[in-house]
Amino acid sequence: MTEIFLTNTLIRKKEKFVPIEKGTVGIYSCGPTVYRDIHIGNLRTYLAADILKRILIYNGYKVKHIKNITDVGHMRTDERQGQAFDPIIVEALKQGKTPQQIAETYTQKFLEDEKRVNILPADVYPKATEHIKEMVELTKALLDKGFAYETEGNVYFDVKKFERYGVLSGNTLNKMSKLLAAVRVATETDKKDSVDFALWKKAEEGREMKWASPWGEGFPGWHIECSAMSMKHLGSHFDVHTGGEDNIFPHHEDEIAQSEAATGKKFVNYWLHAGFLLVDGKKMARREGNVYTVSDIVEKGFNPLAFRYLCLTAHYRSRLNFTWKSLEAAAAALNNLYREVTGYATTDIPKIGCAEYEQRFLEAVNDDMNTPAALSIVQELVDSDYPPSAKLQSLYKFDEVLGLDLQQVAGEAAEVPVEVKNLVEEREQARKEEDFEKADELRREIAKKGYEVVDAKGGPGLKKIISDQS
Ligand code: AMP
Ligand code: ZN
Repeated sequence: MTEIFLTNTLIRKKEKFVPIEKGTVGIYSCGPTVYRDIHIGNLRTYLAADILKRILIYNGYKVKHIKNITDVGHMRTDERQGQAFDPIIVEALKQGKTPQQIAETYTQKFLEDEKRVNILPADVYPKATEHIKEMVELTKALLDKGFAYETEGNVYFDVKKFERYGVLSGNTLNKMSKLLAAVRVATETDKKDSVDFALWKKAEEGREMKWASPWGEGFPGWHIECSAMSMKHLGSHFDVHTGGEDNIFPHHEDEIAQSEAATGKKFVNYWLHAGFLLVDGKKMARREGNVYTVSDIVEKGFNPLAFRYLCLTAHYRSRLNFTWKSLEAAAAALNNLYREVTGYATTDIPKIGCAEYEQRFLEAVNDDMNTPAALSIVQELVDSDYPPSAKLQSLYKFDEVLGLDLQQVAGEAAEVPVEVKNLVEEREQARKEEDFEKADELRREIAKKGYEVVDAKGGPGLKKIISDQS
């Protein structure tokens, strides 16, 4: 058994992964706020969680993965006016729909985009609007324990009461006042301290998405949503929480504060954060106007899995600058891999793979998800002297982590049409009879039908011709 090491943001270094309960792992990933298409920056973060989950499964763990859908309460701030607004409601007004319709539309689109890059579905996608009861309960518990206070229908977390605040981000109380001015909503004038954050917010005049609570009609704060949903589905102490690097503060710091204050025990053992996807050195973000979606990638003729491959070429924690050139290079590398596996596809698959490479691959992925190293091991294996059938066996295994559809692509290629098979036989005959001119002509004919004949020891093989950007 090879041990798994992960970089835990909580301690800012790599440490051995030990699950709370032997053989099982609970993962909570912060999901999307559903009012527009997700962009490939968001996807990079979700891909990192997917790779982690696949690695844990590869190591024999049973994984329970929860990914929430934020369909209320994730307020955004208008930079010019300093006004807070709920983007789902704004989008609903813009499109003449209800907030529920907007949330439903973009939830479905999100799920489709994840599927297009082979992200394994979560076990549960809890919706914030379906967990209001749990959020109210948690808020009540924090009020009862003196960690929160109510003013005019709003409930705030009293940050000063939680001594460990800053444990994740390093933004301890004394460092923070200045920083917070930038991220907190300017309209929250009734707070005791600018560092405090909202657990429950009073509904403004005319708001549709609101719920009854002991503090009047209102809606939950974004941070309490993730605490309530994660604890409901994974228990009050669980293994792994994931997100992008911008989630560290304030979102995850606040999740820790309110969860640990409420339960009196540790909330999460391992915090994993993916680095930003950048464009020209800047974070890919709607407000920067530099976002691309999966559909943009497809429209340009790329296989969405080329983006998955591109993400695998970088370590998940480092920032990755996106360019179309880098996507082209990833698509070419992926197609090379497809050419290899389709080349092997007509041979029988033995039960034995290439043990030495399998061990090295396992060590690489278990070492803080070192996918760039894993990809070079894949390349070394492809270039090695192992019999094609053994290589195929190992590559299929690796693909449980890589998620590049190798088996499916090879399977499709293996379904060689009878007419092509007949041409190959005819060509073999011509070669036996030393009629090389005819053999070459037949080779060209086979190529026109989309296959390349590869003469190898033990008879001819066929590779499906895969053009780039397919
Ligand atoms: P948001 O809709 O902004 O809450 O983002 C959803 C998820 O995507 C969060 O986990 C963010 O941390 C992550 N995210 C947003 N932008 C990027 C980016 N440019 N690169 C990587 N992750 C991102
Ligand atoms: Zn969250």
